Formats: sequence, C-alpha cells, structure tokens
Amino acid sequence: MDDLAALRYLVELGADEAIAEAPVDRFSAPPPVEMPAPARPAMRVVAPAPSPAIAAPVPAAQAVISARDAAAAANTLDELREALAKFDGCPLKATATNLCFADGNPEAKIMFVGEAPGADEDRQGKPFVGVSGQLLDRMIGFIGLDRNTNAYIANVIPWRPPANRTPTAAEIAACEPFIRRQIELINPQILVLVGNISTKTLLGVADGIIRMRGKWRDYSSPGLKAPIPALPIFHPAYLLRTPAQKRDSWRDLLLLKQRIQMLSK
Ligand code: URA
Repeated sequence: MDDLAALRYLVELGADEAIAEAPVDRFSAPPPVEMPAPARPAMRVVAPAPSPAIAAPVPAAQAVISARDAAAAANTLDELREALAKFDGCPLKATATNLCFADGNPEAKIMFVGEAPGADEDRQGKPFVGVSGQLLDRMIGFIGLDRNTNAYIANVIPWRPPANRTPTAAEIAACEPFIRRQIELINPQILVLVGNISTKTLLGVADGIIRMRGKWRDYSSPGLKAPIPALPIFHPAYLLRTPAQKRDSWRDLLLLKQRIQMLSK
C-alpha cells in the first residue's frame, strides 16, 4: 500500500485529522508501569498492568440505567458536566478528544440542541464551532440571537462520532438522560431542536425533520414544571449541502422570532 492509499484507509476508519505530534492508540491498554526496585530482594519488579485507560464496554441496557442515575443526581450544570466526564457508558468517549458539553449563556431563554460534535468541536470542546456552527451563528444572528448573550447551545451526544458518522441508537440512548437533565437545569423558555437526531430523540417521534420542521411541539420531561415549546429546524450542515432548503429554514427562523417577541412582552 503506498502512503496515499494508507492515509485514505485511515481516513475511512475515522482517523481523519492529526491532533498531536505522535499517534495515540486509544484502544490499547497503557504499558506496564515500572515500580522502583525495593531494597530486598535486589531485583526489578514490574507491576501488573493497571486497568486499561479505556474502561471495558458497558452493556447498552446497563449504560442507560447508569446514565439515568448519574444525570438525575446532578443538581447543577457543573455537576452534570462532571458526571458526563466520568461516564463510561458511551463508547464515543474513547475515540473523542474532548467532551463538548455546551456553549453560550446558561441563563438564556432560548436553548438549541444539535446532534453531535464534529472535528472542530472535538478539538475545541465546544458545540457548533465549525463550519455548520458558523452558519448557525448567522442564522440565529438574523433574529437577534447570539450565543455570547442570549442563547445556549448543546448537543444530544457530547462526544464526536468517528468520521462524523451518525450516532447509533445505543449511543443516543446512553447520552439521552444527560441532555434531558441539561434541559431541565437550563429550563429555557424555548427549545430549538436542530436537525433530525435532536428532533426524533427529544420529541420521541418517528417522523423526520422534513415533516417536523417549522411546527411547534411541546417538550416534556418529568423534572420540568411545565412543557417547553420546542421548534424543530433544519440542521445547518444539511442547509450547507442543500441550499434550496434555506428558504424554508428562513420561515422557521421567523416563527422562532415571533415566539421570542411574545416572550419579552
Ligand atoms: N453538528 C452538530 O449537530 N453539533 C455540533 O456541535 C457540530 C455540528
């Protein structure tokens, strides 16, 4: 295999960017740790290999149970971030570089929930900072929103899926309790569901975004005092691929703007 073919093969496997100088095999156990030799007997002792840095995979059903417990136990956003950082029930954690918990103002009345981080988000540890995030910023900017002041942004999945593939049902199920708890803790007045995965997961519907976009729904969860109005919108990555849909997307943003104006009255 020549060098170019080898590189292409790695990209297909999901290793699509060089982050550090030296490659890191995130799946292998760390090498045995050499312990200082004791005084007697004068021989070098090699300690048994410590448990691997990557925890053994957690069965899917068990992962959902521990995700629910960990999310429910978090009473603040900091505790929730901490709980996610400790959570080993989603295998995406092992291949991601950073946890992408949230960006924006936690006091905002409007919360956006996307799908999962991409390469830029994974590198910076923040949602929606790459090309589609820049489009999202422009979209919400048209209607007076800005993540630095009056919007809060998170994802259903906080770790990047390799090569930006769609997250599996098991990965979504393992992360869902955390995003639901995050919504409860933010308690926004309006929830915007950005794209298919976020809409289907949080509204529990089978219909895709083409049918769901631009229609207000109620988002409910046991920890919320009242349902939150939720609006599904097209994902900016989809709009970048399918610019003809920008027209409908603009209509949806105007709906959102109207609702926001009603809030401030
Ligand atoms: N797409 C998403 O859904 N979320 C991100 O954070 C980036 C891209």
